[in-house]
Amino acid sequence: MSLFSSFKNLVGQINKIDNSIYLKGKDFADIYARNIALEEEIAARTKELEQANQTILTLNSVWDMMNSSQPLSNMLDKIVSILFKDMGYNFASILKLEDCEDNTLSFEIKSASNNPAITKAFSLINESFETYKLPFIEKSLIEKSIKEKQIYSSTDIAGLIKMSFPSLAENETKDLINMVQSKSFTVVPLYYSNKPFGCVIVTSDRPGLTDTENNFLSLFANQIELAITVADLFEKVKKQAVTDPLTNIYNRRYFEENIIKEAERSLRLKQPFSLISMDLDYLKKINDTYGHQYGDIAIKTIANVLKKEARSIDIPARIGGEEFNLLLPGIDSKGACIAAERIRKAIENQALDTIGGITASIGVATFLEHSDRIDELTELADQAMYKAKLNGRNQVQLASKPSEINWQKVAVDTFAEILAKKRIPASKEITNSISKKLQEIQESNNNTNDVLYSIVDTISQTYNQMYKTGTTKSKVILAVMLAKRLDLSADEINKLRLAILLYDIGNIMIPEEIFNKKEPLTKEEVNLIKTHPVIAAREILKPISYIQDVIPIIENHHENWDGKGYPSNKSGIEIPITSQIVLLVDSFYAMAQDRPYRQAYTVDEILDIIKSEAGQRWNEKLVDDFIYVVKNESQR
Ligand code: GH3
Ligand code: MG
Repeated sequence: MSLFSSFKNLVGQINKIDNSIYLKGKDFADIYARNIALEEEIAARTKELEQANQTILTLNSVWDMMNSSQPLSNMLDKIVSILFKDMGYNFASILKLEDCEDNTLSFEIKSASNNPAITKAFSLINESFETYKLPFIEKSLIEKSIKEKQIYSSTDIAGLIKMSFPSLAENETKDLINMVQSKSFTVVPLYYSNKPFGCVIVTSDRPGLTDTENNFLSLFANQIELAITVADLFEKVKKQAVTDPLTNIYNRRYFEENIIKEAERSLRLKQPFSLISMDLDYLKKINDTYGHQYGDIAIKTIANVLKKEARSIDIPARIGGEEFNLLLPGIDSKGACIAAERIRKAIENQALDTIGGITASIGVATFLEHSDRIDELTELADQAMYKAKLNGRNQVQLASKPSEINWQKVAVDTFAEILAKKRIPASKEITNSISKKLQEIQESNNNTNDVLYSIVDTISQTYNQMYKTGTTKSKVILAVMLAKRLDLSADEINKLRLAILLYDIGNIMIPEEIFNKKEPLTKEEVNLIKTHPVIAAREILKPISYIQDVIPIIENHHENWDGKGYPSNKSGIEIPITSQIVLLVDSFYAMAQDRPYRQAYTVDEILDIIKSEAGQRWNEKLVDDFIYVVKNESQR
């Protein structure tokens, strides 16, 4: 091979290598470029993923909020805060379309984020977020967005500010535009029940929003619409549950829940509250004369008067057909009577089509003044209302305090009835002696108590020859002292007095021989004696209506704290406290008296025995109080 051809060959080979290096280089450049493109794509996708993730988190948080049944205003505030803080818009607000009185439309600001420029705008026009009405401008971007149900963005921030605050001066608007630091705004329409609800407005420091952001905002708008629907439904259901559909004032359920709360508050603060109970007069006549729909009008009229006359903290409620209550927190009976009279007059002054006028009868009762129990208070207010009816209707009557039961009179009547109906198998001699004593009480009011005690002594001695005269009086005194130490009400104490007089009356039905037997009693005899409280309560006293409250005390006076007493094996607090007192007092005096089979115990011995049975026959705390009373007070 010539040198030339060798050279040519070499050049050819060099070119080949060169070519292949060039080609490889080109491959590398392609790969490099592809890598960069891929990396960019990955970065973009990652960003999208992050955004999607943020979107899901945000939607999730709105969803959680909806499930927590919060009021709508809380939800909208949270949504605005998500847009402002988490999604990075430099201002966000939710506007609600409203019909104005002059038939134009405006926006109410349901919620808005902070923005120094907007805050400044409000201070310049001397208005607040809560009360400001944003004008609804025809043919604006906002109108277009709501009308077309489309999201729109614009860079015309100046236009937005001018539209929102038309009363600002030119230079003030300019200042605000500089302050706002937003390059664009976006309007997201909101719909509720297929009708325009309003819109969301966000502003951004970028000139426009990406497609992803737009997609997100439309998803978000759906969530807001759902939140509004749920909150609105929740409010409606809540309102329905507490209001009466005919009159739109509270229903009985709401009233009953609130009177309980008010009573608790009243007891805690020692502040009264009053209850006004009213009933429409002659509604039946209105129904019969003009038809039921006019009766309904009369009912609605009363409700409207109540609504108008009541203070915002008062609770007007329709309790039944034509029966209304008004609860007046913090008001005493004097104030309540003034309010009731004002309501009565207002009702009387209503001029109704066809029916003409209506009137109502009103009762007033005051918590802590007339009673400190809700059931009793309601009953007293109703009684006062009935009194108003009986006195001629269209008037206010104040409740009177429930009269304490006159226990002496009840006792006299009870014994008289027992004698008259021959309900106990007593000898003529005994019944005559009791009759004479009852007559003595009728003729003079002196010493009524002592005569009553002696009647019970006489009855007790018919079946228990060892019953000492004067024991009944001592029993009553000891029982009342213990009851007072336990802070029982006057009413309870009066029932206790009657119970002490009557609890053993059933013994008169038991054969005398059993009581006076020296030998131990047979099982049958013990069982017979155990039936006496039941016999007393059921057979002798049950037919006497005015003694019914006393019967449970008697029926339970042999029940023991540990449930091992009789006749029903009641235990602990199931046993009325008054029955527990009767048992202790009865046992104390039984042990203090001689019996055919044993001598009387001394007071110290009795107290030791009682103490040894504390927690079994009787409540330990009650025993402590009993011992205290016996040792300290009964000495006085
Ligand atoms: P009084 O002055 O003694 O209260 O006489 P009254 O006719 O209002 O009372 P009464 O208790 O005799 O009759 C009450 C009537 O109210 C009977 C009942 O049909 C009617 N009523 C109850 N609820 C409604 C209601 O929702 N709408 C109408 N129109 N009538 C009702
Ligand atoms: Mg009526």
